[in-house]
Amino acid sequence: MLGAYVDKAGAVVIGPICVDGHRSKCLIRVVTHIHQDHTVGLERSSRECRYVVATPITHELLDELGFMIPRRKRVELGYGSTLQVLDAGVRIRLEYAHHIPGSAQVIVESDDGAYAYSGDFKGVGTKTVPPKGVDVLVVDATYGDPSFRRPPEEVIVDELVKLLRRLLSRKPVTLYAYYGKAQEIMLMLREYGVDAPIIASTKHWRIAKRLERFGLVVRDLLLEGTREANEVVRDGWFIKVDHFSKFRCRRNSMTAHVALTGWLFNAPIRCIDSDTYVVAFSDHADFDELVGYIEDAKPRLLVVDAVRGGATARKFAEYVREALGIDAVAYP
Ligand SMILES: [Zn+2]
Repeated sequence: MLGAYVDKAGAVVIGPICVDGHRSKCLIRVVTHIHQDHTVGLERSSRECRYVVATPITHELLDELGFMIPRRKRVELGYGSTLQVLDAGVRIRLEYAHHIPGSAQVIVESDDGAYAYSGDFKGVGTKTVPPKGVDVLVVDATYGDPSFRRPPEEVIVDELVKLLRRLLSRKPVTLYAYYGKAQEIMLMLREYGVDAPIIASTKHWRIAKRLERFGLVVRDLLLEGTREANEVVRDGWFIKVDHFSKFRCRRNSMTAHVALTGWLFNAPIRCIDSDTYVVAFSDHADFDELVGYIEDAKPRLLVVDAVRGGATARKFAEYVREALGIDAVAYP
């Protein structure tokens, strides 16, 4: 039996494979996406593992974030393709996860069964397709508590667009978001017809430029501090995109401030003052989506990630046992 568990450092270990954390003696490291809590120990994996597997977009962005993965170890695996590791007796496949650009679910098959790890995801049924027929499923349960329920994403994006239009009619807006989420929202705003030029901070801009190689192009995107960006600033009609951490120390009253957070529930938007808003735009499944994902996948055993899920993981495992009749444990 390969077996699957989550160790204290957050590595999802499936036989000889460690996902989103390093585990010594593992042959292969898989990275589901670039968020910090999923790239833990990647330097060590790059030295000690035989392969580092991720989607082409994730490898591109890891490179941008400064991870040095030796070329001979770097395996780019597109959605739906399989890597067969003969001497380890496993096949690894990555499937699309709706989260940030490049995100993937991981499916590992061996002669003794099939295992899957969801990684971070949202949009169950419409965008993220749960793996079918797996024996053991490991899930991220960030919102594994029934109080974590959010209005549907379309409703939230609609409200966000309305808010931005209203604010932009008065003054420029600074939007605060994490890497990946920012690029997703910039692309979405263009789809919704928000045309104001976007000025991005250096890292956000560089990540967006890397994504252009994969056809994800944000129109009218400028790098802060450049001549073009300064001209736009003088005109006074633009959206500035900054890292989420800057929201706490916002000072500039020349712009309105809108932060995208995963920790607002029940309402799409919270108003702090007439110039400052928090929007419930999350990259994680809420409670109902999470339950739907597990119901669809119907694994024989569910393993709930208690490193990223915290205390809710144990409660969620209990809920799955009782309400869905699926055997479930929380690790570690
Ligand atoms: Zn994430």
